[in-house]
Amino acid sequence: MSNKVSEPTAAGARRGAQVLERLRERPPNIWYAGEQVRDVTTHRALRGGAHTLARLYDLQWQHAKTTLFDSPSSGRKVARSFLIPRTQAELCGITAAMRVWANDTRGMMGRVPDYINRAMTGYAAGADFLSEADPRFGRNAVAYHEYLRENDLCLTHTLIPPQANRAVSMSHQADPYLAARVKDETDSGIVVRGCRMLATLPISDEIMVFPSTLLKNAAEDAPYAFGFSIPNDTRGLRFICRESVDYGRSHFDHPLGSRFEEMDAVVIFDDVFVPWERVFLYRDVERCNQAYARTGAVVHMTHQVVVKNIAKAEFMLGLAALLVDAIAVESFQHIQEKLSELWVGAESMKAFLRAAEADAAIDEWGVMRPAWNPLDAARNLFPRLYPRMVEIIQQIGASGLVAMPMEKDVVGPLREDIRHYYQAARAEAYDRIPLFRLAWDACLSAFGSRQVLYERFFFGDPVRMAGALVANHKRQIDEQAALVRQFVRQGRDEALGR
Ligand SMILES: Cc1cc2nc3c(=O)[nH]c(=O)nc-3n(C[C@H](O)[C@H](O)[C@H](O)COP(=O)(O)OP(=O)(O)OC[C@H]3O[C@@H](n4cnc5c(N)ncnc54)[C@H](O)[C@@H]3O)c2cc1C
Repeated sequence: MSNKVSEPTAAGARRGAQVLERLRERPPNIWYAGEQVRDVTTHRALRGGAHTLARLYDLQWQHAKTTLFDSPSSGRKVARSFLIPRTQAELCGITAAMRVWANDTRGMMGRVPDYINRAMTGYAAGADFLSEADPRFGRNAVAYHEYLRENDLCLTHTLIPPQANRAVSMSHQADPYLAARVKDETDSGIVVRGCRMLATLPISDEIMVFPSTLLKNAAEDAPYAFGFSIPNDTRGLRFICRESVDYGRSHFDHPLGSRFEEMDAVVIFDDVFVPWERVFLYRDVERCNQAYARTGAVVHMTHQVVVKNIAKAEFMLGLAALLVDAIAVESFQHIQEKLSELWVGAESMKAFLRAAEADAAIDEWGVMRPAWNPLDAARNLFPRLYPRMVEIIQQIGASGLVAMPMEKDVVGPLREDIRHYYQAARAEAYDRIPLFRLAWDACLSAFGSRQVLYERFFFGDPVRMAGALVANHKRQIDEQAALVRQFVRQGRDEALGR
């Protein structure tokens, strides 16, 4: 365990080998099935995701023109997802960079590092908002952003308190230290005790512990109101993993789960010390509740999310089209209707992104901020679209999704039976089987189910997000209501001869 919060050397954009090396040298304190994981790069439940992560960092060097830019401080090549965009061209450049990872993972790894890179870039860009509370906090955010960029570190993040009693706030739980809260404050930092519900991608270097917007009561919730970042090997910090959705099998058997298991973990803070230079928000409930919106961090994160959604929706469309073709069901009308639904979903996401870029404008911090309305629409729509996409794959694939041998069958003594009986109209058995295994992994396996849950909830409870949407866009809604009222009154007046 370590209390180190800074690196001696920074080398700019990393390659995969460096990512794995750091995970080995400074292992996050991860627990899996009752045991501490000493090396996530070799552990059966986590290595698939860790190696994919490493591959993504190699990929950024293979597409360096798109994914990297020259650091404004060191001149080194650094990841474009750390860029603070000042022009529309720079904003579109960030989209293009994020597409590289989203396309590679087919959108199945929501927490590729650019998600939190965009969040911390938003906080650094809007650092003046943090400084209004304490000048140190804004400076900390700017320095931390530079530190992440120059070291190309990878972050997980955690927002929400444990799901014990949702009828009352954090301060009214059975134990005041159930939800992570400030226990002590010293000249050098703060001490945090308690728990946060979830952090996806614990196989990372650092954790961003930020406020959820669930804070209600200014006085009572103040000890729960903070934003900071610390290394994942900080003393007292622990991650308890869920059961892996990587079955530890081949890419043939488990094409998605064997590659894209990002893992989710509960985060425990056992009197964790956080130095002041890593604190960005502190004991200010109002400011915590506003921080994502005012700095623009939520907009920059949603930008990444919509890029991921496009890749995912296009993947589901392509997958469905191949299933349809393989078993020759393309002439049935309901199949065409389903394909059209998938196409509309993918095109909608692309249109939202295009609108967000086209209507981007300089915000109060001088940042080219993507337009919020289309992004907000996209993030509220996709939790409904994605479960339907999965349902469509199930409806098209039908029993073909379970009448499916494994790799060992394909090369085993029954291979001739398999070659003969698993053929499809337009695919020989050895092409059909991997295709249907992919469809199974996208819509039936533990990996596929977790993807659905992820899309339903990862950005927040869809019910409360809808409530926030109505509140945030009230003026626009009221304007439309006024126009309709005018129309109704016009008809009424005509009828009554007024
Ligand atoms: C796969 C996955 C990955 C995630 N990764 C992360 C992560 O990396 N970091 C992170 O911080 N979070 C993460 N989350 C958590 C995510 O932010 C939450 O799931 C989301 O905010 C909803 O909170 P909850 O899950 O605690 O649901 P709860 O708040 O416990 O809600 C449970 C049910 O009660 C209803 N409910 C509860 N309170 C209210 C209310 N006030 N009004 C109306 N209905 C209510 C909800 O609608 C829901 O149906 C992840 C979630 C998932 C599923």
